[in-house]
Amino acid sequence: MSNRPIYLDCHATTPMDERVLEVMLPYFTKHFGNPSSISHAYGWEAEVAVKLARQCLADAIGATPEEIIFTSGATEANNLALKGVAEAYFSQGRHIITVETEHRAVLDPCRYLQTLGFEVTYLPVQPDGLIDLTQLEQALRPDTVLVSVMAANNEIGVLQPLAAIGAICRQQQILFHTDAAQGIGKIPLDVEEMNIDLMSLTAHKVYGPKGIGALYVRRRNPRVRLAPQIQGGGQERGIRSGTLSTPQIVGFAKAVELGLEELKSESQRLLQLRECLWQALCELEKIHFNGHRTQRLPGNLNISVEGVDGSALLLGLQSTAAVSSGSACSSVNVAPSHVLLALGRPEMLAYASVRFGIGRFNSAAEIEQVAQQTISTIESLRRSQTIGSKSANFKVR
Ligand SMILES: *Cc1c(COP(=O)(O)O)cnc(C)c1O
Repeated sequence: MSNRPIYLDCHATTPMDERVLEVMLPYFTKHFGNPSSISHAYGWEAEVAVKLARQCLADAIGATPEEIIFTSGATEANNLALKGVAEAYFSQGRHIITVETEHRAVLDPCRYLQTLGFEVTYLPVQPDGLIDLTQLEQALRPDTVLVSVMAANNEIGVLQPLAAIGAICRQQQILFHTDAAQGIGKIPLDVEEMNIDLMSLTAHKVYGPKGIGALYVRRRNPRVRLAPQIQGGGQERGIRSGTLSTPQIVGFAKAVELGLEELKSESQRLLQLRECLWQALCELEKIHFNGHRTQRLPGNLNISVEGVDGSALLLGLQSTAAVSSGSACSSVNVAPSHVLLALGRPEMLAYASVRFGIGRFNSAAEIEQVAQQTISTIESLRRSQTIGSKSANFKVR
């Protein structure tokens, strides 16, 4: 335990806050009832807890409780939003707009919908990771039924201009969905101010439990229609059947509540830590900062390192810091990140990149330690690679 690396992968998941665990515990054992059991006290207790949590989550985003549909996480919420809207609005139009840098939980359902006859426009991004609003406007068509643009990117932390996108969509009467898995509890989100019609949420990126999330579905101005993707007991007004997990729901709400309570102070603290890390690393030559410099999650730093091998870099950092690379490794191949490629980064730089996800439980001392280790790893890799290539040249001659 004690010699595990420092955890800096908060975009993948976050450790659960003890305060969240504490409010969840009674709902596993003592208050175990099914919130749908309306005939006895066990059910009522659970129902009250779910009701309070639903209200809390609704308040957090400027919604009403009836507009919150619990799901198993943001992947399911994205699937429900995209497939549910596509199916319900099938006769009105079959064109969807999204962005090249979206999470695979948006891109893959879109690809699937293409096989069913939908047309999908994947908007490119500018070198800073932001979409061009003029390009969005130009992509809108009379048969466009949905625009899906994420709130905060999971790799480069870039925050898309949700309010501006929402205004465009509302004016054209096109539904606007946002994947806010990385945003909830970390940046202000308001479905009214931002004209958001559907929003995917998850608990485990904001110090809550894994396996719980929600889809916000607007009920008025306009009322969004959604075809259920999971059928059964009729929970969540028939939109998402399945017994509700009271402990997870209670924990989800607590996690978001804590996030919002501490949003201002924590954003400042994380920003400071990130800037410390970047200031230390940018002392080196040929280090690139990926994504917009300021319009990003405060705890995110994503860099590309010229002249080093990406996997060697990660290997060198492995014992110091738990970070993620800019490449997605499946068991069969290593591919450079689609997000970094979309920024126009050459393939070599997309490979040799590191994502630092700083979070609530990281200290300044930890960041300093990681900065030093990263610098020495890069320096030693560059030294050995220069020697390597020189001796290779020597042999050739
Ligand atoms: C983590 C993440 C998801 C998936 O969320 P789960 O709750 O793990 O299913 C979707 N979108 C983004 C942007 C994410 O960061």
